[in-house]
Amino acid sequence: EVIEFLKTPEKFTRIGGRIPKGVLLVGPPGTGKTLLAKAIAGEAREPFFSISGSEFVEMFVGVGAARVRDLFEQAKSKAPCIIFIDELDALGKARGTGPMMHEEREQTLNQLLVEMDGFDPRVGVIILAATNRPEILAQALLRAGRFDRQVLVDRPDRPGLIFIFFIHATSIKLAPGVNLEQIAAMTRGMVGADLANVVNEAALLAIRRGRETVQQSDFEEAVERVIAGLEKKSRVLSQEERKRVAHHEIGHALVALSLPGADPVQKISIIPRGIAALGYTLQLPTEDRYLMTRTELENRIAVLLGGRVAEELRVAGGWRGAAEDMENATTIAKRMVKDYGMSEKLGTVALDQSTQPSFLKSNESPGAPTYSEHIAQEIDLEVRRLIEEQGNRVRDLLSSLRPVMLKGAEKLLKDEVMSGEELKALLSVPQEEPSVRH
Ligand code: ZN
Repeated sequence: EVIEFLKTPEKFTRIGGRIPKGVLLVGPPGTGKTLLAKAIAGEAREPFFSISGSEFVEMFVGVGAARVRDLFEQAKSKAPCIIFIDELDALGKARGTGPMMHEEREQTLNQLLVEMDGFDPRVGVIILAATNRPEILAQALLRAGRFDRQVLVDRPDRPGLIFIFFIHATSIKLAPGVNLEQIAAMTRGMVGADLANVVNEAALLAIRRGRETVQQSDFEEAVERVIAGLEKKSRVLSQEERKRVAHHEIGHALVALSLPGADPVQKISIIPRGIAALGYTLQLPTEDRYLMTRTELENRIAVLLGGRVAEELRVAGGWRGAAEDMENATTIAKRMVKDYGMSEKLGTVALDQSTQPSFLKSNESPGAPTYSEHIAQEIDLEVRRLIEEQGNRVRDLLSSLRPVMLKGAEKLLKDEVMSGEELKALLSVPQEEPSVRH
């Protein structure tokens, strides 16, 4: 779409459509966000201006803002073109999330916002930015007319790994009989940059051994070396961990599929995505809705608890990956009790004057509570009751669906990615306990 627009802006403006100004590429490090931005500029055959957010961190006050101004001046004179801002999070951190707010960064960020608001998108300047930490970005950056489009640049799935591996492998001399597909299958969880690393490492090993071409064994050893490096960063999962993650994600998805009115399940994946999220279940719509009924909120809590409960049903003991789910579930329950007056015990009063309308973790520090110690205790009890109630509901539900859960997890372990439809299909098959022991 960006390429189309840069080539033929008239097509978009003729009927008065608004052209996207800012597109945010979100994904883990090494997945090729910068390459993608460059490829867009290349394919549109337009100039490419780039800066990195981290360049601004060490600058003197005022220098960063001036550089942003210059960059936009330059870009506007060369329009149509692309401006690319790498590591946007280094520049656009929300207030107060760092150890201290850097005055320089704040000025630079303000200048960026001014520039983004100030130009007419019809001149043909599109701003692409990349981040691997969208959650810490200042909300101001994500507002309409700024970076209001987000594109997920995720870790590659298995076919993706093979494709990328082939591309890197064309730069080296292969010994006859090397099975690239087999090697690519060993690189699960890696990103493009890791694969480039594997290929390079394999070439170095071959050279060290005095060979003219790279052999299968060189590749195998290279993969092991790169994995060992990654394991230190705890990104590649052991088999046991993968099983846990698979059950966890199937748990979320099954609850979401079974509860009426819950958002439909789009995609379930156990391709690791960094330390925080080892797998994920994508429900659409993912944006926050402002008008939610009590049932919808309860269902949300239930879906969040689904992962942990599924793990409990399979093996005893909690898992650290569920911590974030629990935190999110608690946040929802708290808002139901405190802000939406959905607790019968505490009545229909808003107990907090908070105006933040979003479930997203607040970036501002919460003010002092406006209620008494006694009410605070009541709130805690109500929140706990709500969560326990949903926990029991989910436990009953998943116990009754245990065969589907095990089958689904097995399939997910094998394929790594699953659509909501595929899981639904398993649900509609008459149930038999599978003979495989877990
Ligand atoms: Zn989860």
